[in-house]
Amino acid sequence: MRVAQQRGFFFKTAPSYPNAPAGFLDYGPLGVALKARVIELWRRMLVKRDGMIEIDGAQILPKAVFEASGHLSSFTDPFVRCSKCGSVYRPDKLLEDKTGKAVPEKLGDSEYDSLMAKAGVKCSKCGSSLSGTTRFNMMFRVGIGPAGEEAYLRPETCQSIFVDFPLLFKTQRAKLPIGMAQVGRSFRNEIAPRQGLLRLRELNQAEVEVFFNPQKTDAPKFEWAKSEVLSFRMPAGKDSQMSIAEAIAAGVVPNALIGHYLALVTRFYEAAGVPRTSQRLRVLSDEDKAFYSKAAYDLEAKIATGWLELVACNYRGDYDLGGHEKASGTDFTVDDGGGKVLPHVFELSLGVDRSTYVVMELSMRGEGDRRTLALKPYLAPIQACVFPLVNKDGLQEKAQGIVADLREAFDVFYDESGSIGRRYARADESGVPVCITVDYDTLKDGTVTIRDRDTREQRRVPTSELASRLDAITRPPRLEGTVPEE
Ligand SMILES: [Zn+2]
Repeated sequence: MRVAQQRGFFFKTAPSYPNAPAGFLDYGPLGVALKARVIELWRRMLVKRDGMIEIDGAQILPKAVFEASGHLSSFTDPFVRCSKCGSVYRPDKLLEDKTGKAVPEKLGDSEYDSLMAKAGVKCSKCGSSLSGTTRFNMMFRVGIGPAGEEAYLRPETCQSIFVDFPLLFKTQRAKLPIGMAQVGRSFRNEIAPRQGLLRLRELNQAEVEVFFNPQKTDAPKFEWAKSEVLSFRMPAGKDSQMSIAEAIAAGVVPNALIGHYLALVTRFYEAAGVPRTSQRLRVLSDEDKAFYSKAAYDLEAKIATGWLELVACNYRGDYDLGGHEKASGTDFTVDDGGGKVLPHVFELSLGVDRSTYVVMELSMRGEGDRRTLALKPYLAPIQACVFPLVNKDGLQEKAQGIVADLREAFDVFYDESGSIGRRYARADESGVPVCITVDYDTLKDGTVTIRDRDTREQRRVPTSELASRLDAITRPPRLEGTVPEE
């Protein structure tokens, strides 16, 4: 978090105002670039790999959409209020603080009240008694026009995919199964976002909704994934390594289609620098998943503070399309080889801010003042730094000339301040994979020194080769083994 702030990756919104509300985040220049590259890798490894279509929906949606989706009635968090000082808390968090034990997420209000009474929970600021549990809808309400017509900032990006589905399916001449994807902002008025950037009120999501015929969940396209071995955390708390084929046989994964997407998203994080050994799919129990959900998994990554959820993977059945069909009066069924079908949905809802943070944390090497951000070169915000060895005798001009040449195709940064050692250290901490140094030999023979961030090895190369070398270093990985054989 310190490197993120000091190097301009991200920081708390309105840093000049100490009392600014929590749960908002600003990205600085390196963060903007890192986030964009994480999204681009997701696009490459999921959206493009799978032939999905991508949309960019509005952030404000009419009330009717959230009536149909169930958000107006049930997108709520429980809270209690102090009778004296007015402080507001989530009862599950208070109980966890008091008892040190995890509290199930989906308890009813009266269940919270009896647990709170039993544990003797009081206001943690003033010690006074607390109100009974009530509910708070976490959507931000907005008024459209002078009349203030009721509308909401979307709490997740997926609703526009669902409501646009009939139009998109038709105009894009889609066939089932088809993935529809969207990257964008969502808004959740969290009661107490304490975990910094890990629980945001304004967040970036990358969501995929796969629409499919529940009678047709096996296809040659999914074969490759059956041998992929993934880590499952079973509801009883046991870890199990299983291939997708084994997981299907054991009833942990319902079908090959879902296995294919679980494996694809695992591959994406691997390519982003989250090793498979630091990933697991937490299988949600019936108590933990939504009532309409047929199967649900949280893809979690292991970071310094424990396991963190990055992607909610949810087999939602026909809940979404069925709900919007009923509420809008539009036909949401589509033709699938002769018969009409209301497609089922498998969703991969990915938290972009969390993922960007996890990629940074798991890339951090070294201790104390000597830190290296060993990002995959294709995710590095700055791909090369160019330094003149000394600031005289024409070396600066030579180095600036190299920057000008490379800038068209790469993100390069020119740095002439401080010792070479200090410049290398700054570049390492910012995740720059290659440093290029111009010295007196450059003036004689046109060669420069290039230094590798991770090995610190240096070698001399002709200036004319810089672009092709950088291109090779920063090229994203190929999707080996995931493309079906014809
Ligand atoms: Zn109080």
